[in-house]
Amino acid sequence: MAAAPSQTVPPSRPGRRLWGRLTLWVLLLAACLALALFCWRWAENAAIERLRLSGAQRLDGYALSLENLLAKYDFLPGTLELNKDVVALLQHPGDDTLRGEVNQYLEKVNRLSKSTTIYIVNLQGVTQAASNWRERDSFVGDDVSFRPYVRDALRREPGGFYGVGTTRGEPGYFFAHGIYHNGRMLGVATVKVNIEKLEKGWVQGADKVLLADAHGVVFLTSVPEWKYRTLAPLAPAVRQELEASRQYFSHALTPLGLREQRRIDGGASIVEVPAAVPDSGPGSRMVSQARSLAPRKWQFVYLSDLAPARASARNVFLFALLVQALLVMLVLYTRQRRRLGLQRLRAREDLQRAYDNLETMVAERTSSLQQMTHNLSEENVVRRKAEQKLRQAQSELVQAAKMAVLGQMSAGITHELNQPLTALRTMADNARVLIERDRLDEAKTNLATISQLVGRMGLITGQLRQFARKADASLRPVPVAAAITAALFLVERRVERERVNFRMSMRSQDVHALCDSNRLEQVLVNLFNNALDAMADSETRELSVGVERTDERVMIGVSDTGPGIPDDIRAHLFEPFFTTKPQGQGLGLGLAISEQIVREFGGLLRVETSASGGARFIIELPLAEQETIDV
Ligand code: ADP
Repeated sequence: MAAAPSQTVPPSRPGRRLWGRLTLWVLLLAACLALALFCWRWAENAAIERLRLSGAQRLDGYALSLENLLAKYDFLPGTLELNKDVVALLQHPGDDTLRGEVNQYLEKVNRLSKSTTIYIVNLQGVTQAASNWRERDSFVGDDVSFRPYVRDALRREPGGFYGVGTTRGEPGYFFAHGIYHNGRMLGVATVKVNIEKLEKGWVQGADKVLLADAHGVVFLTSVPEWKYRTLAPLAPAVRQELEASRQYFSHALTPLGLREQRRIDGGASIVEVPAAVPDSGPGSRMVSQARSLAPRKWQFVYLSDLAPARASARNVFLFALLVQALLVMLVLYTRQRRRLGLQRLRAREDLQRAYDNLETMVAERTSSLQQMTHNLSEENVVRRKAEQKLRQAQSELVQAAKMAVLGQMSAGITHELNQPLTALRTMADNARVLIERDRLDEAKTNLATISQLVGRMGLITGQLRQFARKADASLRPVPVAAAITAALFLVERRVERERVNFRMSMRSQDVHALCDSNRLEQVLVNLFNNALDAMADSETRELSVGVERTDERVMIGVSDTGPGIPDDIRAHLFEPFFTTKPQGQGLGLGLAISEQIVREFGGLLRVETSASGGARFIIELPLAEQETIDV
């Protein structure tokens, strides 16, 4: 069976980076730990070396003081033969008087030299006289021939010996020397010195000192429990010999149990010292160094406690770890600071770039604004020109509308003028005939009528000229009633012809509006014509004009009884060229122009439905102040 191909998915990039970092940190930690351990080791060795040096110094000191002490008494046994009584006693051992004198002498010397005991032994090893002769357990008469130092002295070997006294069990150092007379040995002089007092000056504290004999039996030590123990188990022969000489009285001489762990420089070694109380856990480790006191084959051992050295090494280890941790933190801090600095630099660069961009943008905007301003001023010029053209066109339109009205009215006007002209001709002919016939009064009447007719015709043409005149732009108080009359005059014929009932209601006759009379008339004529057009098919034809005023405004209402204005038409009423009239009859400019004119006066033109259902146009104008009128 074919195994499915195993797909090893490669770790993603951030995953790989994480692993890399983790490995780096582990390596770094291991390196730090190794370095700290190295520091620990180094500090421990250095501390051990210090202990070794100070231990060696102390050891020298202790050895010197011991040598000094022993040297003080070295000569003493040899000098005793100088006393004649001592020699005589050994020659005549039975002379008790002599013994008494020697006893007193030895007592005195012992007191003066501060030794423990001084005694004289004959060649058989029996004590003949002793400084402690007064005491109950005096040495006098004791057989000490088994004591090695006595034996040595008898063999003419001046000996020194440390041992525990057989009588009282008191330890001490024994000096022995032969007593000679004329070259012949008579006996042995022995001096016992208490050297235990040296122990008291030895170290207090954790360090330990011991002095062992040639067999390794500890006989002086700063540790009371160690006394009469051995550095190593004793060989059976040695044990026998010691027991025979009763050097250490009845002490068991068991091994101390020091275990060497390793050797270090200068002949020193690290040993494990068992606990003082057995089975109380592991003992302490100590630096052990020994110094041999050659002539006596003794061994001085100094044991320095390793605990403070180990503690200080541990502290060094911790300190090294701390320093490294601080260093790592410092490095991390520096890196972080550098990163932050870089970020800040980058941010500043970005800011600078943004600022530069902004400046460029501002410069571009400024130039485009300048361009726009330039374009605007150009547009302004164009607009102003267009406005000018518009105003010109408007004024031309107004004029054109006026002319259109005049055109419409021309038939009526012609009729208006033809009638008086015909009447004039007839009356002038009649006047001529009447004058010929000398009917002067009648001729005068005819001429008067002619004059009236001419006056009326002049009025008509005057009104027409007035209407056709191009208006100026200035506003002045205009008597509203006069304007209405003038406008009505222009449509009067049509009103009569179409049998339209005209009504005018005006509360106060001298109402003045601030406007231009000519153009107000144009508006009114336009409104009247529209009303007449609207009422063409109406049964009731009534055109009413009403004037009202408020404190500031004058309202001129023009109402008709036509069909009114439907809503859809009302929306377009004031738009230029909007007309419902058949082609040729309306331009659709009348209301647009009228509204424009009224707005220029500062008023407004609006439309509503009249009481009869027809249309009512209201021209609202500013009221002219009385003072202005007077001026
Ligand atoms: P024109 O008279 O040349 O048509 P206007 O601007 O004066 O132009 O009038 C626009 C339209 O308003 C007219 O065609 C008509 O439909 C409507 N209109 C004006 N006055 C009245 C009125 N009094 N009654 C009804 N409709 C009117």
